[in-house]
Amino acid sequence: QAKRNGRNGFCFYDSSMTEAASKRFNLLEQLNQALKNDQFELYYQPQVNTETGRIVAAEALIRWNHPERGLLAPDQFIPYAEESGLIAPIGRWVIEQALRDISRWHAMGYTLPKVAVNFSTQQISDLIVAEVAEILQCSDADASSIEFEITESALMENPELSRKVLQALHQMGISLSIDDFGQGYSSLSYLKQFPISKLKIDRAFIRDLEVDENDRAITRAIIALGKSLKMTVIAEGVETENQLQFLKEEQCEELQGYLFSRPVPEEEFRRLMEKSSG
Ligand code: C2E
Ligand code: MG
Ligand code: MG
Ligand code: MG
Repeated sequence: QAKRNGRNGFCFYDSSMTEAASKRFNLLEQLNQALKNDQFELYYQPQVNTETGRIVAAEALIRWNHPERGLLAPDQFIPYAEESGLIAPIGRWVIEQALRDISRWHAMGYTLPKVAVNFSTQQISDLIVAEVAEILQCSDADASSIEFEITESALMENPELSRKVLQALHQMGISLSIDDFGQGYSSLSYLKQFPISKLKIDRAFIRDLEVDENDRAITRAIIALGKSLKMTVIAEGVETENQLQFLKEEQCEELQGYLFSRPVPEEEFRRLMEKSSG
């Protein structure tokens, strides 16, 4: 469109494209450096049992300690990593780091059963199965101590491949959970094809529980669905006592959200585990 506006328009269009492209190139270059220079860090957010309030698992969430821009949230770089293919080495680092932390915790006497790591669509490939097996072989922690979180929409992008890859990971002993559940359009029969042990109710439904009757209905339905398929159901983004009360009454098994803790650095997460078991 800018091209049709004559010479100035054309120039503007051209230079802005170049700028966007070079910005992106710059970011990719920095992401490469970040991998080399160990600038990524895993934060951990507890997942608690609704009945006991105890920590039963944690979700690992990546952060980037950027040398100039400070601590960056995943939304600021994961999409570029996915687009460029860098998610493969970054994803590998995430799994390795989570396993290192789990091994250390076990050696220190903490008995956290599971750590969940997020898994992008681009990571669902035939190659990942052998790669994960190799990573596990080099680790003291075993497969049953990790869980991969995959969004419903990622599964739907390539259901055939997903089913194959998830089956193989499942056979290795890794558990699988569906992240941001409720946003996609999976049917019951569809879900049954995947070896899934946990459904994570999307934060968007939890947010408005107090005011939105529809969100309450959807949340109830997901809890019932999970029960009938023998999956654990966890609510994400629990921030208030009222939400907690509702989820307790509906017997949602596990909870995650700021009400319990924000994602915290590894040392701080150890303190949370200490308090939880004490
Ligand atoms: P997600 O997997 O759905 O993770 C939950 C997000 O919700 C996290 O944001 C967490 O900090 C936030 N959250 C947790 N409890 C609450 C709450 O009570 N209220 C609110 N408002 N937010 C809450 P975060 O850490 O910024 O991560 C955003 C997304 O980035 C994640 O969404 C996940 O899709 C992606 N991500 C994070 N780490 C990784 C990773 O290692 N690999 C990949 N591929 N993606 C990752
Ligand atoms: Mg997640
Ligand atoms: Mg989520
Ligand atoms: Mg998400």
